[in-house]
Amino acid sequence: MTYVGRFAPSPSGALHLGSVVAAAASYLDARTHAGRWLLRIEDLDTGRSDAKVAQGIIDTLARLGMQPDDAPTYQSRQLDRYRRALSTLSARGLTYPCACTRAEIRAASTVPGVYPGTCRDGLPPGRKPRSTRVRLDQAEDSFFDRFAGPQLSRIGRDYGDPAVVRADGAYAYLLAGAIDDVLDEVTDVVRGDDLLPTTSTQRLLLAQLDLKPPRYAHIPVIRGDDGRKLSKQNHAQPVDADAPVAVMSRAFEAMGLSPYLSRAEARASQDALWDDAISAWPRFLADRAAVISR
Ligand code: GLU
Repeated sequence: MTYVGRFAPSPSGALHLGSVVAAAASYLDARTHAGRWLLRIEDLDTGRSDAKVAQGIIDTLARLGMQPDDAPTYQSRQLDRYRRALSTLSARGLTYPCACTRAEIRAASTVPGVYPGTCRDGLPPGRKPRSTRVRLDQAEDSFFDRFAGPQLSRIGRDYGDPAVVRADGAYAYLLAGAIDDVLDEVTDVVRGDDLLPTTSTQRLLLAQLDLKPPRYAHIPVIRGDDGRKLSKQNHAQPVDADAPVAVMSRAFEAMGLSPYLSRAEARASQDALWDDAISAWPRFLADRAAVISR
């Protein structure tokens, strides 16, 4: 099967170094597997998505040396895909309405972020539906992550029933992203490890639809000085597309690729730096594979 990879940014803010690391890791993995690399704009959250920001991300990636092999796709333009997936799930009796607010879920959860199942067997009396959830019954999920190693998740501890349609009516990213990966024939998801905890939910949603999940590789995300993930929310600086060599050198360093690159002279041009990184990537992954198989 031909390798297909992708980068799937949410256009809620300009590209920062953490997103460049995720983009570059998936790009390098696609290039070294002679694969295709897709760009998917995850703009279902209309309140936080901005078309200009999306275009800025596309342009910045190109100027940093990452051109997708197909025209970028926009989740907001393929709602039919998610609608169809949802009707299949409903037809199978796997969806149910949920009345819980975020605050109620937080108060009732024993594990933060894991839905406690409040509305699973029906709405509490007098409550109105807000979101739609999918029933996940599998007791556990295990998979091999090409970067993070073997993973095992358990129901109630690591995942609960996910919301697939949010209270504002938008399809949830967890469902939409998983569906897109399958329909776009993505073979390998390479992304930041902030998404590792929700990967089983995506895998199990696909299982409820009899769809085969892709392979995954979750690379460590850059942490800020305070130890938190760099994100648009905590104001990570946008990268400077006018300084592609500097930005990419920092990104390769952040992902741990620097020791595998040849000497600094090779970084005189953007092309030379990318060539260097592309030839370093397989050795970098092989060393990682040796660590996780121990
Ligand atoms: N849009 C998600 C984000 O920006 C990434 C989704 C993915 O790579 O699966 O965090």
